Amino acid sequence: MEWLFLLLPIAAASGWLVAQRSGTHKRVDNSCHGADPVFFRGLNYLLNEQPDKAIDVFLKLAEVDGETVETHLALGALFQRRGEVDRAIRIHQHLVARETLSSAQRGYALYELGRDYMLAGLFDRAESLFQELVEQGLQERRALRSLIEIYQAEKDWRRCLETADQLRWRSDRPMQTEIAHYHCELADECLRHARRDEARTHLLDAQAVDPNCIRATMIQAQMEMDGGDPASALMLYRHLARRGPDYLPAMLPQLLRCCERLGRKGVTKELGDLFQAHPSPPLMLELSQAIEREYGPKATLDFLNDYLSRHADLVGAKRLLELRLSRFPEQTAAGDAQLIEVLRHLVAAQPSYRCDQCGFEARALHWQCPSCKHWGSIKAVAPQPLVSPAGLPPSRTATVTH
Ligand SMILES: [Zn+2]
Repeated sequence: MEWLFLLLPIAAASGWLVAQRSGTHKRVDNSCHGADPVFFRGLNYLLNEQPDKAIDVFLKLAEVDGETVETHLALGALFQRRGEVDRAIRIHQHLVARETLSSAQRGYALYELGRDYMLAGLFDRAESLFQELVEQGLQERRALRSLIEIYQAEKDWRRCLETADQLRWRSDRPMQTEIAHYHCELADECLRHARRDEARTHLLDAQAVDPNCIRATMIQAQMEMDGGDPASALMLYRHLARRGPDYLPAMLPQLLRCCERLGRKGVTKELGDLFQAHPSPPLMLELSQAIEREYGPKATLDFLNDYLSRHADLVGAKRLLELRLSRFPEQTAAGDAQLIEVLRHLVAAQPSYRCDQCGFEARALHWQCPSCKHWGSIKAVAPQPLVSPAGLPPSRTATVTH
């Protein structure tokens, strides 16, 4: 039935067009008697779940009536959305083979055929079509965006760069975030092959195109560490923590290694300063361990109690209970061990990162969202501030009391 609902507006439009062109000007709003009966034969096939025969009918109709291109494009899109790629390909191939198409119609049909090939995983064919469209100046921006999708899927970052550059001059979108990430991908690639100078050039290019590129500075800090200069790396991590606090949890392991290389002295203060500015569950865990090492369990208990008085955080609650059970058994109650298991389960189920574009949740940082494909949109989930019932705004209080 979904077919029928989607096609009824097209049927009405087609009927109207046929009526107009045939010169009969019959009324089509009540019974559609003015429409071409062949079209309804096609619809009938659809109702009887014989889409192949329906397509044949529509294709024959297209040969007779050059104005039904839109009908076929709609049908092709319908097949494409349903994942019936073979059928979408067949429709679009028939369309592009026609010599009567206008240049705009041909561009549109070629673009849709390219999308069909992409869905079918035939990237080579799709790439050729999109390149042809760019050369002919048809559907240029959409074709370039699709080419970028293909090169990203193939991790061909050089071609991503070239294509993004072409798109940049043809659209209003500056593309600097994407271009900076492509340079970072290339820098990572160079580092895997020990080409440090080339990696550095890519990082400079990334920062030139996007001065706010956190990732480029993170790679640079890692390079300083690997090059035996933890002091410079630490300077960069401090700088990064100020500029990109959302990425602090992701850079925390490297920052800790950096502190270790410089000697454990001052780790608690380093983490404490960062925590004051940007509290997060991973940082809270590391800081609580540093406090325990340097000042003992009582100071850690005070720190955790203070943290939980301001943040509704499962990770912090679990850490507090574990500390009580191991160091302050007199403060524990029957069933606390079981409670820790419940918290462990809940902590394991909650995401550490979330995409601010589509809401995709992840346990680890992805520079490109696997769901919506945005770059740099996945950020660490911040702990919820604890709001007492008295502090809730009136509307929320009302919701709670009902
Ligand atoms: Zn996303």
